[in-house]
Amino acid sequence: MTQPEKKIFVTQPALPPLEEFIPYLEKIWENKILTNNGPFHQELEAELCNYLGVKYISLFCNGTMALITALQALHITGEVITTPFSFVATTHALWWNNIKPVFVDIEADYFTLNTAKIEAAITPNTTAILPVHVYGNPCNMEAIKHIADTYNLKVIYDAAHTFGVTVKDIPILQFGDLSVMSFHATKVFNTFEGGAIVCHDETMKKRIDNLKNFGFAGETTVVAPGINAKMNEVQAAMGLLQLKTIDAIIEKRKHIAELYRKELSGVAGIRFLEDIPDVKHCYSYFPILIDKDTFGTSRDAVYETLKEHNIYGRRYFYPLISQFPTYKGLESAQAGKMPIAEKVTEEVICLPIYPELDLNAVMNICDIIRG
Ligand SMILES: *Cc1c(COP(=O)(O)O)cnc(C)c1O
Repeated sequence: MTQPEKKIFVTQPALPPLEEFIPYLEKIWENKILTNNGPFHQELEAELCNYLGVKYISLFCNGTMALITALQALHITGEVITTPFSFVATTHALWWNNIKPVFVDIEADYFTLNTAKIEAAITPNTTAILPVHVYGNPCNMEAIKHIADTYNLKVIYDAAHTFGVTVKDIPILQFGDLSVMSFHATKVFNTFEGGAIVCHDETMKKRIDNLKNFGFAGETTVVAPGINAKMNEVQAAMGLLQLKTIDAIIEKRKHIAELYRKELSGVAGIRFLEDIPDVKHCYSYFPILIDKDTFGTSRDAVYETLKEHNIYGRRYFYPLISQFPTYKGLESAQAGKMPIAEKVTEEVICLPIYPELDLNAVMNICDIIRG
């Protein structure tokens, strides 16, 4: 067993060759258009619509501002049903809008919102559902739509972990009222920082575009108290360049996931996710669950052992959002209310996965885990 000298983190951004980026920068210097729906911004919106199979996309400076703005765009107030098993920004976006998060447990197979438990959480104040396609696993979108239609609720999907994910060839971004993406450096597709809202009609696209630019709808017309959440031209250029190789990036991630599965299959006490039939995945994360009793050691022990070998897995998502000080006082956050999430958060660790991760390193990581 060879010990890698270099630190291996859970992810590493896929960067295009620097010399390919320079011409884009030269163009920006030539145009002197740095932001405000510049040429690269317009081009990226068009190319992303095409690649992702959606009609309208609005680019943002990051995913969190896109989430906050999505809630504004739909005038969401009161209470919103969401998952505790996500990155904390999902719930923070509600908090920044003075909306009360109501946590509902996840389901055991793919860790998305447990649709069987949503209805019991609906009150007269509920206005929307904010589910997360966690790790890129599609939520139960049919069940969510049925509940939303029945109770007249809006649906905003946090799609920060997905890029190009489809179910039966239908892009998951086509579901819900809005979907929010993140193009942060750690995501499958990155623009350094960045994000987007996907919507389905032109009026909504206009409203979102106004909101991300102070509410301006024209030179002297301000239609809403908007914010500044625009994507700049350097970010957009990065996106255009990244889009050229995104299929290869996802393919490499797939190979790594397959190798992990091969190496870890049959190890008692370790569970990982298989591909879902009819789903095109993006392999944004490779989570494994460690059952302490069967495996013999805890998730935290494995996490520490990996660290001793310079391998930095991440306990996504631990703690649960509902366990952070801001939220733990909420009624829906109380211990025992979300048994599946409470168990998964203690067992999960995400293993390194990124295009340039060497397959030998993957084997080595599996050797260390098997002990
Ligand atoms: C990354 C992430 C966000 C936030 O996106 P940023 O671009 O980092 O602001 C929101 N939700 C989830 C689930 C994420 O993983």
